[in-house]
Amino acid sequence: MTVFLPRDLDEALDLRAEHPDATPIAGGTDLGVHWRQQTIAGSGAWLDLTGVPELRASSWTDDELVLGAGATYWDVIRDREIAEQFPLLARAARQVGAVQIQARGTWAGNVVNASPAADGVPVLMAYDAVLELSSRDGSCLVPLSDFYLGYKRMRLDPDQLLTGIRIPRRTYEFEWFEKVGSRSAQAITKVGVAVTCRAAQWRVVANSVAPTVCRCRAVESLLADGLPVSCPSDLAPALAADVSPIDDIRSTARYRAEVLARLLYWALRDECPSFT
Ligand SMILES: Cc1cc2nc3c(=O)[nH]c(=O)nc-3n(C[C@H](O)[C@H](O)[C@H](O)COP(=O)(O)OP(=O)(O)OC[C@H]3O[C@@H](n4cnc5c(N)ncnc54)[C@H](O)[C@@H]3O)c2cc1C
Repeated sequence: MTVFLPRDLDEALDLRAEHPDATPIAGGTDLGVHWRQQTIAGSGAWLDLTGVPELRASSWTDDELVLGAGATYWDVIRDREIAEQFPLLARAARQVGAVQIQARGTWAGNVVNASPAADGVPVLMAYDAVLELSSRDGSCLVPLSDFYLGYKRMRLDPDQLLTGIRIPRRTYEFEWFEKVGSRSAQAITKVGVAVTCRAAQWRVVANSVAPTVCRCRAVESLLADGLPVSCPSDLAPALAADVSPIDDIRSTARYRAEVLARLLYWALRDECPSFT
């Protein structure tokens, strides 16, 4: 087994270009689950990003929060300014795994692992996060909502690393996140949804109900148009256009579709002042 240990970002990007088969590893909480299979089936080479200082730090500009690719859930939970300005980040972080996973798992790893059940991705997408993808030839910015192409497929070239997650600073009239699992810790999501609204612009993002975490654009339009919604089933036709839940060991498609409509309806009705 070969482990590359870059000491700075330039070295990491050089190694990424020279050894595209080497698997980048951050917290290792996803990769560790499949360690043996990956070591046998993969190239057996790893690119350890934990020693790259440029990836570790998060920072603020006038316009945005830039989460470093090495930022963990715990980094967000303990940062008062992030929790105040982006409360959904802290709320989702507290529901990932348990403390041990929160301390090691990174937001970037959650994004690139590309699980449909990822809990960090819906809140990032509801905040219009933009990914900074870098190779030694330069960097580009890709909105998270355009990043996924299908199940476990994404716009990430073999020589690129995710080097930062930019989240615009905005004031929201409504922001909300809920995760439904079989218990409150160490549970893979059966259904989850994050919602934000500012100036009648809605973001409704669901997980565990489609091959990727996805924006529910038909529901967003329905809410933006102010069409009457007087019970959960009024949301069902739009949700049916947005998501394609499946039966699996954790839940059934029917349960997921019904719970998603109910979660959304009651959150809007009970907690959103601009929802009529
Ligand atoms: C017990 C347990 C409970 C869990 N509970 C939850 C949960 O409740 N909710 C949830 O969403 N997830 C959960 N997870 C999954 C996991 O913890 C998260 O997805 C976590 O965010 C992964 O981050 P990581 O840093 O550990 O990623 P890693 O395992 O290091 O990497 C994951 C993927 O991302 C790639 N990668 C990482 N960083 C970069 C980068 N900078 N550039 C390019 N590629 C990169 C890796 O190559 C790999 O493909 C759980 C895992 C375990 C083991």
